[in-house]
Amino acid sequence: MKITGVTTYVLEELLKDKAFGWSQWVTDRRQTALCVISTDEGIEGVGEAFYIGGPAKIAAGMISDAYAPLIIGKDPFDNAVIWDFLYNRTRDQGRKGLPISALSAIDIALWDIKGKAKGLPIYKLLGGAYREKAHVYATGLYEPQHVPSVKDALVEEALGYKKDGFSAMKLKIGYGIETDMEYLKAVREAIGDDMVLMVDANHAYNAAEAIRLARKMEKYDVYWFEEPVPPEDIDGYIEVKQKSNILITGGECEFTRYGFRELITRRAVDILQPDLCGTGGFTEIMKIVAMASAWNVPVIPHVWGTNVGLAASLQLFAVLPHFPERRFPAKPFFEYDRSPHPFRNKVTHEKFIMKDGYLDIPDRPGLGITLDMDFVSKRTII
Ligand code: CA
Repeated sequence: MKITGVTTYVLEELLKDKAFGWSQWVTDRRQTALCVISTDEGIEGVGEAFYIGGPAKIAAGMISDAYAPLIIGKDPFDNAVIWDFLYNRTRDQGRKGLPISALSAIDIALWDIKGKAKGLPIYKLLGGAYREKAHVYATGLYEPQHVPSVKDALVEEALGYKKDGFSAMKLKIGYGIETDMEYLKAVREAIGDDMVLMVDANHAYNAAEAIRLARKMEKYDVYWFEEPVPPEDIDGYIEVKQKSNILITGGECEFTRYGFRELITRRAVDILQPDLCGTGGFTEIMKIVAMASAWNVPVIPHVWGTNVGLAASLQLFAVLPHFPERRFPAKPFFEYDRSPHPFRNKVTHEKFIMKDGYLDIPDRPGLGITLDMDFVSKRTII
């Protein structure tokens, strides 16, 4: 089989009155870059590039201008060879960020093609599923922009997740210790002690601040404290981890096996959170997972974006091993982004619906999804 074409789609929609704040800025739009790879056998694969701040059209440009010309004529089953080849071509000015997100979209599309060619879900090609469904936690509880009281709005949102059947949710923090504690107290008291509650600072603090906050948060039974310090500050992570009784997590801003090497080998986090659509796709993330398993550091992937990234992440979630294997292994949580996204669930014909706190992991070939091309074409801005 040979690759015959690569097409990118950049989608964007403004959030208007649903714009949401977090510790770094106010997100006023949702964007994504999708990539469709076609082959001479008529099989197509789709991938998505993770982005937070960089415009999605830059990731799409990397795909179409930097990578696509290099993979025409290659066999999608040579995905690992293709990965190293493409990585090396952007290594001098790449290595992290959007070049790797773009490479992730290509790799995911290649795995989609491989699965469809073999009539198997990707998890089968990766060695088989440890689980058939994903126990989800709600990512939400951002800072709404047009409400009389942020605290009241957070309480209402949190109670909504509880009513919907979630057993876990994640609160955004990083607005300053005092404000963080006010929001945390309000949410914990509203949802009760039985719900699992995580917090995420999106690297808003230095180590000293994060330690102070972690100690204050202990009494509210916080399950994990995500991205307390900037991703470059590995020593800060280690310091916070050593002085906090709350689990410390991070990794969504890290890329490739080279980037994760330090986080893993220096035991900088309690739980590693690579993003499949950002860190290099299936080919690369399985190398990160293998390295993490050797150091016995649990992996719970970061998940963001549309149904394409969600479907891909569910395939990955199926194959995550136990950390460690045992008679009654831990059941990892799957990140289920519930923050405003006008087209998350519209880009594919298949819909993902939570039942009793779980999402089913599709057992259809490849990613198990088909793009709704009518919708995608309409929303494409370039
Ligand atoms: Ca996060």
